Amino acid sequence: MTDIISAAIEGAGADELAALPMPESYKAAYVERGDIAMFEGLESDDKDPRKSLKVGEVDLPELAPDEAYVLIMASSINFNTVWTSIFEPLPTFGFLDRLGKESVWGARHALDKHIVGSDGSGIVLKTGSAVRLWKSGDKVTLHCNYLDDQDPTAHDDSMMAVNQRIWGFETNFGGLAEIAVVKANQLMPKPTHLTWEESAINALCNSTAYRMVVSPNGAGMTQGDKALIWGASGGLGAYAVQHVLNGGGTPVGVVSSASKVALLNELGVDAVIDRKEKGYRFWSDEFHQDESEWRRLGKDIRGLVGEDVDFVFEHPGRQTMGASVFVTKRGGKIVTCAATSGYMIEYDNRHLWMKLKSIIGSHFANYREAWEANQLICDGVVLPPLSAVYTLDEVGDAAYQVHKNLHEGKIGVLCAAPAEGLGIDDPEKRAAIGEDRLTIFRRHA
Ligand code: NDP
Repeated sequence: MTDIISAAIEGAGADELAALPMPESYKAAYVERGDIAMFEGLESDDKDPRKSLKVGEVDLPELAPDEAYVLIMASSINFNTVWTSIFEPLPTFGFLDRLGKESVWGARHALDKHIVGSDGSGIVLKTGSAVRLWKSGDKVTLHCNYLDDQDPTAHDDSMMAVNQRIWGFETNFGGLAEIAVVKANQLMPKPTHLTWEESAINALCNSTAYRMVVSPNGAGMTQGDKALIWGASGGLGAYAVQHVLNGGGTPVGVVSSASKVALLNELGVDAVIDRKEKGYRFWSDEFHQDESEWRRLGKDIRGLVGEDVDFVFEHPGRQTMGASVFVTKRGGKIVTCAATSGYMIEYDNRHLWMKLKSIIGSHFANYREAWEANQLICDGVVLPPLSAVYTLDEVGDAAYQVHKNLHEGKIGVLCAAPAEGLGIDDPEKRAAIGEDRLTIFRRHA
């Protein structure tokens, strides 16, 4: 592994990299099948990723013809790694076992160690015999839409494929590791002006937010739209607010502290609600919601932007969905991709049908949407919301930060990269965008 990492960092050419022998094992973060009962009886909040996420050597699997080995310079923590690490809502070994039954190549995934991680930036080490458009030495970022391209349902919008999966969550050999195994159609160009860790954090959350906000598969926003963005300084929200601003809309960001308000203001979001300060109680007890609290939120939004919102960017789920449906304007959309606070949702359907609103389910992004979202990062018009960087050995601590909502934006994880700040190929472009803009989240962390 050391030879490969040194060669890659020293800028070895395609032939030199391709000629290097692959190691038999590599360092990775994983959970173990034998641990799936370790948190039984505990509340979600008390389940600790630091106990379940382990770091150690794992065997390198054989490469399928349509795949690539990628040296992962950096990766990031996504909430799906938190879900895997607390074995909720289901242990992810069930996904691996199902994939294991699909094909000979799928069988490699059904192991007792699940190597996690659904983001990564790095260098292509080797490609399978069927890979045409990528080669050893290419600098890449990875998106997590894992598809069978021989499945007819995977064409048109590939998120509609019956066996669509998220790499590193529903598959093995994820990105929180020195090497990842990915399908060639997960590869995208690395932004030349960013460091490895800045490049690694974007694909999952940026692409998801892009589909929800910009794509006709989501809100399909147009100029002048007003949008309520929950968790506006979190992983998804940090991209959603930028998409709305860039598209000529007005985001109303919701966060939970004065420091997050300041961060969003610096990012260009003027209308921000501090939900902690406002003390909304949408649920008066475990079983009943309070419409007057929904109304209070709606009034606060009108106070900031003068009217109701065209769409809501929804992911907290049970705690907020009733309010989200209520505050959306007549004919508006509630686009939802998650339910962090609970997936059994309740809202007053009268407000939905009488005002002709629609709820749109959304999940990650198809290749085209992911590519378009990546292009916005490459162009420097969407900024990477990197707030902190951990090493691979500290992956449990990093996941703990996200589980406990102690972070802002995204947390990067150094894998093969020996230090922060490496990987910038176009310093002039970086200077033109501005170091200050690129480090807003870091400065506010
Ligand atoms: P983060 O933890 O980075 O951000 C979520 C934000 O939501 C927090 O910063 C917090 O902001 C806010 N929040 C948390 N709980 C509540 C609540 N009860 N009420 C209102 N706001 C709340 O996570 P991500 O943005 O990365 O992911 C959010 C969810 O989306 C996760 O469940 C994740 O699994 C899911 N997801 C789904 C994807 C998909 O493709 N379907 C893709 C990516 C993520 P604050 O406290 O400041 O208000």
